[in-house]
Amino acid sequence: MGSLCEVNSKKPWIETPLIESPTLSRAAGCRIFLKLENLQPSASFKSRGIGNLVLTEEAYHKAIGSTRPLHFFAASAGNAGLAAVSATSVLGYTSSVVVPEATESSIIEKLKTNGASEVIAHGSGLAEADGYLKEVLMPQAEARGEIPVYVPPFDNEAIWEGAATMVEEMSQQMPAGERPDAIICSVGGGGMLAGISDGMDRVGWGSDMQVLAVETKGADSLHQSMKAGELVTIPRITSIASSLGVVRVCKKAFDLLARKNVTSLVLEDAEAAMACWRLADDERIIVEPACGVSVALAYDNRLGHFLREFDKDKKVIIVVCGGSKISVDTLVQYKARYGERARELAEMWNSS
Ligand SMILES: *Cc1c(COP(=O)(O)O)cnc(C)c1O
Repeated sequence: MGSLCEVNSKKPWIETPLIESPTLSRAAGCRIFLKLENLQPSASFKSRGIGNLVLTEEAYHKAIGSTRPLHFFAASAGNAGLAAVSATSVLGYTSSVVVPEATESSIIEKLKTNGASEVIAHGSGLAEADGYLKEVLMPQAEARGEIPVYVPPFDNEAIWEGAATMVEEMSQQMPAGERPDAIICSVGGGGMLAGISDGMDRVGWGSDMQVLAVETKGADSLHQSMKAGELVTIPRITSIASSLGVVRVCKKAFDLLARKNVTSLVLEDAEAAMACWRLADDERIIVEPACGVSVALAYDNRLGHFLREFDKDKKVIIVVCGGSKISVDTLVQYKARYGERARELAEMWNSS
């Protein structure tokens, strides 16, 4: 059937470039490669995981022969909501997003522009928005004869599988015969880390390859779990890196800490912000602090502290995971607010 092939041949994410950056390599003192996930249709790597979840649901409902229309539901005022509406609209499905009442109108507009069928503001926070979605909106859709599908942000097999495609691309894109010594990624709920780890297993990138899993202080739910030796829920999020603001990581991410090649580390908001403005200057790319915190490792000799046998020939891939909640104005504000602290920290890293 022609139409089936046509639908399945569409992918709601793109193959992104992997570029070697002379400027960041010079700053880092080793070879830095950037995986440009900021170029995804939703402006973050989440297009992969959530896109794959939508494809997986589509395939499943086709396979069981259901004819009722799929309708996707997400509770998010961030990149997960954007990835959900962008993927569903590319594939021709309806989507509803519930955001907390305090959400700025610009975010609601962005969700609509990117293809949301409806955006509903409800509740004082994400938990309330999520409850309303599950307890009221999804049953209503069911009653209308639709198949409601819940889109989770990170704790889901199809999402990890989608994120893993990033590593398959990297393995094709590295210069012939070369493999990275380390991959750096940010951690919110740990979906990206889980997917990267699965992807590494898939392409045969083994335990000699380091993974640096980076969080900001105040959104460090993986690091706190590592310290506690068990999966913990942190009391609150106090970091500006709102896309890393998950109080409890998925079990799969926590379990990865048992691997010797996986290192959990935490930097300050000032460092995440610094990397945002320096990446804008150095590569003309603008990203959220959630992404900046990974990029920060390329600056001020930070990498030398975390990479094994660090030298100029080491090859490091930084996942530029992107994010849509950033603007020139915000970068300017970050610079004013964090410039001095960033200089202090640079001195500390460079002299230690
Ligand atoms: C969601 C997100 C993260 C964190 O990803 P997880 O899979 O939740 O760990 C990091 N950066 C950006 C830009 C994001 O949108």
